[in-house]
Amino acid sequence: MNELKQLIREVPDFPKPGINFYDITTLLKDSAGLVKVIEAMRSQYSALPFDLVLGIEARGFIFAPTVAYALRKGFIPVRKPKKLPAATVKMEYELEYGTDTLEIHADAIQPGQRVLIVDDVLATGGTAAAVTKLVEKLGGQVAGLGFIIELDFLNGRGKLDGYQIHSLIHY
Ligand code: AMP
Repeated sequence: MNELKQLIREVPDFPKPGINFYDITTLLKDSAGLVKVIEAMRSQYSALPFDLVLGIEARGFIFAPTVAYALRKGFIPVRKPKKLPAATVKMEYELEYGTDTLEIHADAIQPGQRVLIVDDVLATGGTAAAVTKLVEKLGGQVAGLGFIIELDFLNGRGKLDGYQIHSLIHY
């Protein structure tokens, strides 16, 4: 998987000074790279019992539905505030660069359903931790968390104790 690093563009000081941004658009436009990432996710989770794949706006909407399709599961979106039309449940969270709020439809998950969370980057883990709380607030179980990239030096795993986490590429 490390050869995929050649396809990930590193943009220094984006979106603010001191942040090294891992840009996956250069990976997405490479057909072999894209297949490799989605196939790796598919084989990682093909034996895992779960019901739904959850994706987080915005970059999570690229990978999570693709993985859901590959594994023949349903997809549920977590969105920025005031985007979802029906009744929602909210959670505030911290980013590597700021704070924000996320929402999920209150009826997105039925109690007892097992949810695989898929996102592009595990950085500080604030977003992923907030999403695990949203899943559990609705009575769902977190079946696992899958990332394309994990920034080991930020120890996002520290906020996700007890969950099964898998990342394809580590920095
Ligand atoms: P965090 O809550 O800190 O784990 O960050 C969550 C989200 O922020 C990730 O899913 C990415 O979309 C984005 N993100 C944070 N840091 C970076 C980074 N250094 N490069 C690319 N994306 C990032």
